[in-house]
Amino acid sequence: MEKFDLKNLTIEELTEHFKARGEKAFRAKQLYQWMHQKLATDLSQMSNLPAALREQLAQEYDYTVLRQEQVQISKQDGTRKYLFALPDGNFIESVWMQYHHGNSVCISSQVGCRMGCSFCASTLGGLVRSLSAAEMLEQIYAITRDTNERVSNIVVMGIGEPMDNYDNIVRFLRMISDENGLNISQRNLTVSTCGLVEGIKKLSEEGLAVTLALSLHAVTDEKRKAIMPVANRYSLAELMEACDTYFDKTGRRISFEYALIAGVNDTPEDAAGLAKLAAKRHCHVNLIPVNPVTERGYKEPDRSAVVAFQKRLEDLHVTATIRREMGRDIDGACGQLRRKTLQL
Ligand code: SAH
Repeated sequence: MEKFDLKNLTIEELTEHFKARGEKAFRAKQLYQWMHQKLATDLSQMSNLPAALREQLAQEYDYTVLRQEQVQISKQDGTRKYLFALPDGNFIESVWMQYHHGNSVCISSQVGCRMGCSFCASTLGGLVRSLSAAEMLEQIYAITRDTNERVSNIVVMGIGEPMDNYDNIVRFLRMISDENGLNISQRNLTVSTCGLVEGIKKLSEEGLAVTLALSLHAVTDEKRKAIMPVANRYSLAELMEACDTYFDKTGRRISFEYALIAGVNDTPEDAAGLAKLAAKRHCHVNLIPVNPVTERGYKEPDRSAVVAFQKRLEDLHVTATIRREMGRDIDGACGQLRRKTLQL
């Protein structure tokens, strides 16, 4: 029988579990803090728990720890890109970035992805499996142990589609913001989706104050379908309605992500369409010059074309930022390091 992973349980679940075993509730709290606040890598480190209990737990349960397989450090900006091995031998990537407002980590939510976006390297080998909450938490814990610095922002923008792993994502969001864990403010957590409408609507009902990023990338159904298969399932109209619901329920501004691909979605009409969608909503537009994916032949527009696109939006009263490209020298874009390592 597969063992139960202690690190997957919320503090409430762990407390119930301990009570059912005849253990005191405060022991559950101690254990939770060792796992999620002190980031212990082994039960034997948990010095205030009775040795007999530690031994029992070690025998009866799993305790997920990621193994750091590789880290690449950017000479340009100090960005660190990690390749981690999961307990079952699969690999995932996470990225640590330093900004003036604090350290930000980009985590993976799945091993591979089945969404099929044509510009994305993560999807080329398909989906292997979803990550557990413990495996998402461990990416942040392993990086914190390695850097010895506090993480203040988390973006779920690495490999995978978080809304395709909904229950574990919500569990992860609750646990990383728990006061008995790293206690990272929900306002500093961002979940990025290619636009699974049911997931967006469901997330708006969870009572979480996290930011939603929508990977928009095209502003007509026709163009979106050409680069993102998910657009065959949901129209832009349905997607915008889900975003509006998210804002109404949570009060959080949506972040529209728009990867600029030369000759594909960078025309003045595209800018006008984007301005139209953005102007009437509480949102922020983030322009990302596409990271070239050689297999697809996609290229980023010239810098002047990117700036011209931004200027067009501004003329139409929509402010947009151009995303700073971090770690370009270290396979910074989604899925590129795992792909190279596995030779997918
Ligand atoms: N599946 C989620 C989160 C992972 S992708 C989503 O789609 O949002 C994180 C972001 O990187 C998305 O906005 C995605 O569209 C974008 N992305 C993927 N490949 C890219 C590339 N080659 N260049 C620039 N952005 C890319």
